Amino acid sequence: MSSRPARALTTLADLRREGLIPDSAEASLAPVAEAFRIRLTPAVQRSLGETAEPGVALQYVPTTAELTIRPEELADPIGDAAHSPVKGLTHRYPDRVILHITQTCEVYCRFCFRREAVGGAGTLTETEVEAALAYVGAHPAIWEVILTGGDPMVLSARRIGQILSRIAAIPHVEIIRFHTRVPVVAPERIDDALLDALRVRPQVMVVLHTNHPAEMTAEAAGALSRLAGAGIVLRSQSVLLRGVNDDADTLEALFRGLVRNRVQPYYLHHCDLARGTGHFRTTIAEGQRLMAELRGRLSGHCLPTYVLDIPGGYGKVPIGPGYVAEGAEPGSHVVTDPKGGRHGYRDPSRSAEAAAAEGPEASPVV
Ligand code: SF4
Repeated sequence: MSSRPARALTTLADLRREGLIPDSAEASLAPVAEAFRIRLTPAVQRSLGETAEPGVALQYVPTTAELTIRPEELADPIGDAAHSPVKGLTHRYPDRVILHITQTCEVYCRFCFRREAVGGAGTLTETEVEAALAYVGAHPAIWEVILTGGDPMVLSARRIGQILSRIAAIPHVEIIRFHTRVPVVAPERIDDALLDALRVRPQVMVVLHTNHPAEMTAEAAGALSRLAGAGIVLRSQSVLLRGVNDDADTLEALFRGLVRNRVQPYYLHHCDLARGTGHFRTTIAEGQRLMAELRGRLSGHCLPTYVLDIPGGYGKVPIGPGYVAEGAEPGSHVVTDPKGGRHGYRDPSRSAEAAAAEGPEASPVV
């Protein structure tokens, strides 16, 4: 790798020149590159130069495994299209909408759940933004607008400022949330102009997508420090990825690194059923086992919720592990502690509850 890369790598020839794929692989990877875009920013290239861990490169460098499409895999695995009342908007839950302001990203992740959409249609036109915000304005139950894409932070600070001001003018919207990879893959974008744009009301929250502790370079930590210093609430989302972070040591380092940089771990996503991503997917049982192991190692505030976006657009739910099972008797439970020990627990009986609620005066006189 060049030590001070000046531009993004976007072609197989670029990857070959930088030694990220062997010369012999270019022909076999051509159909992958045709189907799904490639982009590694200079910051990603620098992070690759700083680590011998394969977990960063695997996220961005294409492999022929992406040509294997499994029967259960879908072009739109979380069902965005089924909940899109207006172009560029997903309204799945009553109190929040996703605004897909752009389909462009700084990087193209090999496991992306929107990989069939990103990199394609570009940015919403002014008319489309107008229509999407009119929809938000007409639905008073919408409390939160989530800007995603693509990656909304690829837009200029000026454009971001304009969009935020317009959302902030909708009285019932109290929270604007960014989902972005920019602080780790293009940290230089977090500059004074962007910070000024983000300082609006309602409260702006940034949810950082990061999957491996080696992504937390000094440059990335600097970008997060600037965001936190500007009063932006920071949370994270990560995807559980085979070969990248599917071991407890890597996840522990990832979550500790986030908390150290004032980012609250928020979600660990089970890898969605996007086409050509089966080689990244663990089983749910493996994910639950990892989360149970981490529960014994980390403070609760370092642990994200392990979630699955139910295929078809039915929403996101926590998928464990569960610590409570029903016991043999009504009202009895078996609770598992962080080390795997099992303990009985019994709910207060109804009659005791009723006696407590009625108080001593109500006790029968004998
Ligand atoms: S940055 Fe996000 S939206 Fe873009 S390719 Fe990666 S996972 Fe997908």
